[in-house]
Amino acid sequence: MARFVYDFTEGGRDMAGLLGGKGANLAEMTRLGLPVPPGFTITTEACRAFLDTGGEPAGLWEQMSQRLTGMEAAAGRLLGQPDDPLLLSVRSGARFSMPGMMETILDIGLNDESVLGLAKVSGSTRFAWDSYRRLIQMFGSTVMGVDPAHFERAIALLKDLRDVPDDMHLDADDLAQLVETYKNLIHLETGEYFPLSPAEQLRRAVLAVFESWNGERARLYRRREHIPDDLGTAVNVQRMVFGNLGPDSGSGVAFTRDPATGRPGLYGDYLADAQGEDVVAGIRNTVPLTELGRLDPRSYARLREHMRTLERHYRDLCDIEFTIERGTLWILQTRVGKRTAEAAFTIAAELADEGLITPDESLARVSGEGLARLMFPRFDSSATSEPLAHGLPASPGAAVGAVVFHSAEAVRRAAAGEKVVLVRQETAPDDLPGMIAAQAVLTSRGGRTSHAAVVARGMGRVCVCGAEELAVDVEARHFTAPDGTVVEEGTVVSVDGSTGAVYEGSVPLADSEVMRFLESGTDDETAGDTHDALVGDTRDALADDTCGKSAGDGHAEAIGPVGAVARALTRADAVRRLKVRANADTPEDAARARRFGAQGIGLCRTEHMFLGERRELVEEMILARTDTERERTLAALLPLQRQDFVGILEAMDGLPVTIRLLDPPLHEFLPDRTELAVRIAAAEARGDLPAAHDVELLAAVSRMHEENPMLGLRGVRLGLMIPGLVAMQVRAIGEAVAERTLAGGTPRAEIMVPLVGDVRELRIVRAEVERVLGEVSAAAGVPVTCPVGTMVELPRAALTAGRIAQEAEFFSFGTNDLTQTTWGFSRDDVEAEFFSAYLDKGVFPASPFETLDRDGVGRLVEMAVAEGRATRPDLKIGVCGEHGGDPDSVHFFHTAGLDYVSCSPFRVPVARLEAGRAALAGTDVSDSR
Ligand code: PEP
Ligand code: MG
Repeated sequence: MARFVYDFTEGGRDMAGLLGGKGANLAEMTRLGLPVPPGFTITTEACRAFLDTGGEPAGLWEQMSQRLTGMEAAAGRLLGQPDDPLLLSVRSGARFSMPGMMETILDIGLNDESVLGLAKVSGSTRFAWDSYRRLIQMFGSTVMGVDPAHFERAIALLKDLRDVPDDMHLDADDLAQLVETYKNLIHLETGEYFPLSPAEQLRRAVLAVFESWNGERARLYRRREHIPDDLGTAVNVQRMVFGNLGPDSGSGVAFTRDPATGRPGLYGDYLADAQGEDVVAGIRNTVPLTELGRLDPRSYARLREHMRTLERHYRDLCDIEFTIERGTLWILQTRVGKRTAEAAFTIAAELADEGLITPDESLARVSGEGLARLMFPRFDSSATSEPLAHGLPASPGAAVGAVVFHSAEAVRRAAAGEKVVLVRQETAPDDLPGMIAAQAVLTSRGGRTSHAAVVARGMGRVCVCGAEELAVDVEARHFTAPDGTVVEEGTVVSVDGSTGAVYEGSVPLADSEVMRFLESGTDDETAGDTHDALVGDTRDALADDTCGKSAGDGHAEAIGPVGAVARALTRADAVRRLKVRANADTPEDAARARRFGAQGIGLCRTEHMFLGERRELVEEMILARTDTERERTLAALLPLQRQDFVGILEAMDGLPVTIRLLDPPLHEFLPDRTELAVRIAAAEARGDLPAAHDVELLAAVSRMHEENPMLGLRGVRLGLMIPGLVAMQVRAIGEAVAERTLAGGTPRAEIMVPLVGDVRELRIVRAEVERVLGEVSAAAGVPVTCPVGTMVELPRAALTAGRIAQEAEFFSFGTNDLTQTTWGFSRDDVEAEFFSAYLDKGVFPASPFETLDRDGVGRLVEMAVAEGRATRPDLKIGVCGEHGGDPDSVHFFHTAGLDYVSCSPFRVPVARLEAGRAALAGTDVSDSR
């Protein structure tokens, strides 16, 4: 029979797949000798068996009962024992952390009898009844399916009746009465009675946690975070410890470093006389963890010791939940903590400095997505006015949007294209869709470990929480600032997640310091003052006495995000195999790309060079009736094109510049057909003679009209059909190369032919290229040679790559077109039409235009690489579709053996970083010193 249950003494952190993250870490902490309340974990395998069959897996209950008997024997009391009950918590814990997305049930084992026993042994009748009503509330909604709003209403009604502000003011009699009300409610709603048998409570609670894996908010979260749906969750059953037994008890969350900035020190929130759930719910305001040092110095000292143990053991930022029960400290959970992008970079660099991790591990712990986030603009500090209010900076970044007060409203407005800021007193898991839709989340309650803060950080959303000065009235859809300003729904506000400030109106944005630094083009490891300060700094963060916000003052020399980014990029550049080029078609873009670290241009599109003032010339070329007319306009275009190339080759001097011959269908350069027809019809209606030029243009546009221009006369086909076009472009390139060479430069132009489907197309163009370059060389008196290659952006090109390589010195995958043509859809049409539905239905794990479809398009890429190199072993191969800057795709291109990726200039640092990380994948990064 399968083994479904593991005691905490039996597992370890490497068993997260089977025991879930929480269970594996509980076992690890138990092994380390930390004070963890005893318990056991039911495996993800049991959950999968349950989800597959819809029934309790055979043998599960027997195995659970056996463990329970062991726990009871060790505790010397039975689950729900009337005079002194052993009570249990039942919590979900999947392989990947899904904060607040699944269910928890506390105080299992209470019933009408044991509540009296608990009152007696705890010495607090109020506490016992409060625990009982919590159990019924959680059990009623989670296991028995009663709408939680019913319970909320019942408690609100009672508070009104007693005229008290919060739950804390309800006394034991009130709570006993609430227990009766809740029980009646359950019976009324379900026709069933709340089960008084502790064993039945336990059994049903476990199955309900299994079931919550498929709950709506869990599914939504997984989709966002790309967590597979078929993993299932483990369930942890643990002896209850109580933080709500009076002022010498409490619960808290602690981070071994600041999860928002990465600064060393102790961070966290503490709430006296409360359960852990109260801290996270943000219903009552917490105090900073430092306060615990004053309230309970002994527990505080122990906690710090355990935090040090955990951080050294996990070699990473740990996020720890703890409870103090009448002066005794218990650790309830730890995990490697979620963090902002800024914190990820800073912590990775700091830990490497402290010698806890190797430089390669440090690189493996940051991401291109995180770097992209740090490159986003921030608010321009010179343009900010007096803030409306201040809260806690929980997730950094700058966001501007219209205030909304409900998740559904956020979703509705965002779908209509509006930017919104979701404002709540506190958020609950049901607010997740609104948090996803919003630019920022602003709450008036809760600490930096509240639901809003944790979830927003995980998603990279800007978040300010605990802005207590704001009176948020969700029902009336407004909030009031301390100066009396009433901000109604729809008003635009600016939220600064880095400082916690909230402004009315739209504050202008300024570049981020990381962006400024990257733009300076000096991002090697010696760059920046910030970096100098960190050399030789090997402090022990947790030995430091500072805590919470004050920690910053003691660490003026800490590695800032700029130094940390420099560190990561330097390492990435040292280990990566893939080169990184940029897609750029102006000298300015080329220069910027170079500052960002581009090693050349992988795609210089020439179409924009046919627009603007030159459009008239292009029109003339298209309308030319004779060869002479056409040659005249091409001759007029030639010097203009040449100047374009001279500028770009100069900006990229010494580095390769791949120039692509004209690609789009020519009618894209002509006026709109309908517009022309209307103009002509209007003239005729007025009795005027329409302009001859208009009539001529309309005839040309109509002649060239295509139903599917994407599949029409474009790419290399244009070159074969429009006499002189290729020659003009090649001559411009060749003359630019000659000019730069004569000026002392080192131009390295490469000529790329788009949309080739057959080797014969390329052969014809190549012959033309060689002929023209020969002429240019002879005329200029300097050798002008340019490698000729092709884009691979049609399935046929990939399928016949071996033959095409006979004529191509390089391949560059045009994965934008290759995705369209492999899937058979037109991006412009399908993205708006059905992509979100396809993502919702799980047909796409991610948009294939953003992340390369490895199974389909990826196979073509692999095939073309293999066959191309079989023909020409030194074939240079790159990619210039948008996927070249997408982290996941960069990893694929590394594995597929490409030589370089090319992406937009702003993605160049991201691609460098990911190319480095890709080179590490599969190696043991812990051994890289
Ligand atoms: C491509 O198809 O991937 C490509 C880079 O070309 P374009 O986007 O210009 O069609
Ligand atoms: Mg293309």
